[in-house]
Amino acid sequence: MFPAAVRAPERASRFSLRATAVLAVVAALFGLFGWLNYRGAHRLLVADVRVRALAPPRVVFEDAYPEQFPMQVALLRTAVDEPPLAAVHALREMGIPFFVTRQLAQALGHRLVLIYPRIDGETFSPAELELIRRHVEAGGSVFAQSAAAGAPGAHFGFREASASKRRHVVRFERGADPLLRYLDRPEELEIRLGSDQFPEIFWTQGYTPDASATTLARFEDGSAALVRKRIGSGAIYLSGVSLLDGLMRGQTNRHYEAFRHYVNAFEPAGDVWMLLLRAWYESLEPGAVRLGTIPRGLRSVVLFTHDVDWENSFPPMIDYARAETAHSVRSLFFVQMKYVNDANGKGYLSPGNLDVLRRIHREGFPMGTHSIIHSRAFNYFELGTGTETYGSYKPRGTGPNTATGATVFGEVRVSRELLDGNVPGQHTVFFRAGHLRVPKTLPEALARCGYEFDSSFTAPDVLTNFPYALTLGLDFEQEAGLYEFPVTIEDEEEPALRERVDSSIDVFRANADNGAVSVVLIHPTDAGMKLEAEQAMLERLPAGVEAMDPLEFARFWRARDRLDWNVAPGAKPRTIVLRAGSREPVRGITFEFGGEIAAVSAGANLLDDRHRIVLAPLEAGKSVQLEIAFRP
Ligand SMILES: [Zn+2]
Repeated sequence: MFPAAVRAPERASRFSLRATAVLAVVAALFGLFGWLNYRGAHRLLVADVRVRALAPPRVVFEDAYPEQFPMQVALLRTAVDEPPLAAVHALREMGIPFFVTRQLAQALGHRLVLIYPRIDGETFSPAELELIRRHVEAGGSVFAQSAAAGAPGAHFGFREASASKRRHVVRFERGADPLLRYLDRPEELEIRLGSDQFPEIFWTQGYTPDASATTLARFEDGSAALVRKRIGSGAIYLSGVSLLDGLMRGQTNRHYEAFRHYVNAFEPAGDVWMLLLRAWYESLEPGAVRLGTIPRGLRSVVLFTHDVDWENSFPPMIDYARAETAHSVRSLFFVQMKYVNDANGKGYLSPGNLDVLRRIHREGFPMGTHSIIHSRAFNYFELGTGTETYGSYKPRGTGPNTATGATVFGEVRVSRELLDGNVPGQHTVFFRAGHLRVPKTLPEALARCGYEFDSSFTAPDVLTNFPYALTLGLDFEQEAGLYEFPVTIEDEEEPALRERVDSSIDVFRANADNGAVSVVLIHPTDAGMKLEAEQAMLERLPAGVEAMDPLEFARFWRARDRLDWNVAPGAKPRTIVLRAGSREPVRGITFEFGGEIAAVSAGANLLDDRHRIVLAPLEAGKSVQLEIAFRP
């Protein structure tokens, strides 16, 4: 009995040991699974996003934009208290070749002279005014702005100049001059400088033209906003609105609520000033050569983008990607990298949703980030330190309009840490702010975190439909090194997007007429009616307009904006040599010429209109040289 009695408990204890071991293994497996699950959901992988010091080079405009060839516009600085960035932006965006100088004699070596930023009684001596008069008389042209009382009005076509902050509207006289050639839509022929809710906005000069001058545009008080004075075979144009106020104030979002609609409409109030300069150059420079705004000789491009900012928006991304692939189109997905639970909802970077992002990336679609907590208060956030990282950054939305623990750097940097960290091969360079709320520090935070492009404004809100270089602090002084692609059409305003396809196409057409672009924002909250609306847009794009990968276009625009190019007389009569070099690879660079082209050497395609050529793809750091022969 004894051994049995002894064995019995031994067997029992062996059994319980085995059971315990099995239970322990099971428990360990559950634990491991749970831990892996937890890790998958909460321990996201983090890419290294380095924060660079802010060391922008101090631009000396006269050195950055040197005199190279006769068809350049001379940008003559009459005062150095204001950087000529507004004029530089206008000319660069329009692809007009130019150089910057402070020397009148050097400027007058060129047919077209843009005088910036102002003219007063001290700007020019009588002898200099006589030189300008003779230059114009011989077929030259001057475009000037902001001539104040005391300026030599007789030379510029006015009897009186009256400064006021109370003018809100400019109406152009349709067809009154070749300069107005691009202003044909109602939104272009009448623009607002600011909302009536601000009795005073910025200074404008209203002119009383003299008998030698013609009024091309008026303010609402009847004074002239743009006058032309013909002298001999040339003309002087004088604007009462400065390019800083007309264009740059919009681009930096420092205007007085000048837009007529916030989004989903054509608002060219800033574009018209650039289009005047484009028409000025094209109509008065016989050897006009201009860098086209759109690749491959197209009239315009439409850039489709999607904001993924809701937990259920992930699976429909696949449907959008599939439908777009069927149209040979790529859109760009801006993803909110929400890993915190807060008053506005739960975090949703689940393993399943991250899988969707990886799949979208594998299928070749570009992605950008769309912040962490998507706060309506983003434009009030502090910049932060730049040390914000996933492990320590704990932002919380405490309501739709409030947040704690959040900074601009945190939203920008950590969202990139997570998107790049969890999607192999993803390298994020594009950002869009939640609710399109933009803090003034955003360009700095983006540039320092390695971003290259932004799409956080609406086009009407920046009064322009052309991409442009963002400035530090959204100020008038210094570029931040990145580019803005503002949103033209979105899907949240009533009526539903499906009901707005026609009006959207009309905006695409208006932009195509100007060589501008359109950006469409559709939230992939479902793959039903909104996707149908997008497909309807794709099927009905106007002639010469194509949908293009937004990242590809952004890179095109940057390379184009920084293209180093010049022209020189060729060896034979009626020929020129065009040289172009790019720091980054770029395809589809297009040049437009005033003259009719007879032939172009290898390295470019001549388009059917015989006024435009498309360059073969440019390699980074290399330049090409082409000979172009014109018809007599
Ligand atoms: Zn959003």
